[in-house]
Amino acid sequence: MKFGGSCLKDEESFKNTVSIIKKYLKKSKLIIVTSAINGITDQLMEFYEKSNDLDKKGDLILDQIYERHSKIIYELLPENSEYCENSIEFLKQNVRDLNNIGRVINLLRPSKNLQDLIVSYGEKLSTFLLCTYLTSIGFKSEFIPSDEIIKTDDNFGNAFPLLDDTEELVNERITPLLNSSSYEIACITGYYGSTRDNRITTLGRGGTDLTAAILAYSLRTFFRCKVIYWKDVRGFLNVDPRMCDKAILLRKISYIEAKELAFFGTKVLHPLCLDVSEKGKFPSEIRSFHDPYTDEFTMINLEYAKDVPGIKAITYIYRLSMVTIKSGTMISLPKTASKLFSLLDENNITIKFISQSSSENNITFVIPMDDSMKVSSLLRNSEYFGKQWFSIKIDNNISLIAIIGAGMMYTPGIAGKIFTTLGNNDINVSAIAQGSSELNFTAIVERENCKKAINVLYDAFIDYNSP
Ligand code: ASP
Ligand code: MG
Repeated sequence: MKFGGSCLKDEESFKNTVSIIKKYLKKSKLIIVTSAINGITDQLMEFYEKSNDLDKKGDLILDQIYERHSKIIYELLPENSEYCENSIEFLKQNVRDLNNIGRVINLLRPSKNLQDLIVSYGEKLSTFLLCTYLTSIGFKSEFIPSDEIIKTDDNFGNAFPLLDDTEELVNERITPLLNSSSYEIACITGYYGSTRDNRITTLGRGGTDLTAAILAYSLRTFFRCKVIYWKDVRGFLNVDPRMCDKAILLRKISYIEAKELAFFGTKVLHPLCLDVSEKGKFPSEIRSFHDPYTDEFTMINLEYAKDVPGIKAITYIYRLSMVTIKSGTMISLPKTASKLFSLLDENNITIKFISQSSSENNITFVIPMDDSMKVSSLLRNSEYFGKQWFSIKIDNNISLIAIIGAGMMYTPGIAGKIFTTLGNNDINVSAIAQGSSELNFTAIVERENCKKAINVLYDAFIDYNSP
C-alpha cells in the first residue's frame, strides 16, 4: 500500500492510516510505502535553494520542519515513552544532518546529487514515524530505507529504476520478512533509491507511487501482489470535471487505457508506475483515503473489456501550438520528416501529435505552447528548413482532444462520428489522427472550442442518455 503525503499530515490522518492498515492486515501481508508528510518535500526543495544562497534563511525552514514533525510525535506517542524519545532523537539527528549538508552546499556549487539527498529526508522522517507509531500500538514493524533496496541510474531528480538489480535486493531483504511466521510490517520509504555506487537519487515528483509499483514488481515471482494507492481522489474520472460536469469515476480500466489517459494529461499516478505494473502483471487500485471503505474506486487490470463498445474517457491538452511545414517544391518529405524530428528531439521538444499529408509535401505537428517560440527559431535558423523551400506556419490557439477506449478497436466508424458530431456543432477540426494502438482518436480544435467540443463528444460517445 502506498500512502501519500496527505495521509500523513497530522495526528488524525496518521490514525486513519493505521486503521486502514489494521483492516487489511487481517486478510493479507502488507508492505507500506510512504511519502513525506504533506508539504515537506516542497520545503526541503526550498531549503536546498536557500542553502545555495549566502543569506541564512534556510535555518528557518529547518525549524519549521522540526516543529511540524515534533508536534505529530508528541500528539501520537505517549510522552516520556521510549517511542517518543527515540523519535525525537531521530528527528533531531536528521535535522542536524540536513543543517550540515546545507553548509556543504553553501561552500560548493549547486548539484542535483545534493538536492536529491536533501529531499529524501522527507520520506525518511515520515516513514520512521509511522513505523514507530505502529510499533507503539503493538504491531511489529520494521523501518526499511529504500536506498538499501531500490537501485536506479544516476539521472538525479528523475532517476530511472534498475529493475533487475532491485529485484535481487528486494528479494534478499523483504522475502524472508514476508515468509517468517511472525511477520512484521515492512515500512519502506517512498520516492528515493540509490545509484549502484550508493548515492541517493529520487524518482521524480510523486515518485512514491513508483516505489510501490517497483516493490510489487520485484516480489511478483513469489507472491501474488496488488498495489493499493491511497489518494486524495477516488481514482480516474472519465473526463475532467472542470470541463464537463457529467464526469464519473472509471471503476475498471486496463493499463493500456490508463497509459493513454496519463499521456494526455490525467496525472493520477506517476507515469512510469503504469508501465512497471503492466510489466509485472499485477492489478492496482486507486482508493480515496477520505472514504476508505467505499466500493467507489478505480481498479486497473491487464485485460480490457472487448465487449464494451466505444469510448471510456475523453481527455485533452489545453495549451498547444500547431506547426505546419509546407514544401513549395516536390522535395520528398520522408527525408524531411527525419530531419525535422531529429532537430526537435535534439532540442528536447515533445511532440503530442503528428500528421503528414499523403502528397508528402506537408507535415503538421503539435507541441506544448511554451515551446512555440523555440521551435519557430529552431526551424527558421536551421540550414535545411530556413531555406526558401519551406513555408512555416504556427498556430498558437489550439487544443487537443483525445477520445480513449480499448473498445474502439472493435467499433467501426468512430472517426466519422467525431467529424459529424463536431461539424454539427460548428466546431472546425484542424486535424485528426488515430493512434496506432487504436486506443485513441485525437482531434485538434481551436482553443475557444475546446470545452464545447469535449461536451458534445461526451454526449455523443459516453452519455447516451443525454438529449
Ligand atoms: N514526496 C514526494 C513528492 O512530493 C514524493 C511523493 O509524494 O510521491 O513529490
Ligand atoms: Mg507528495
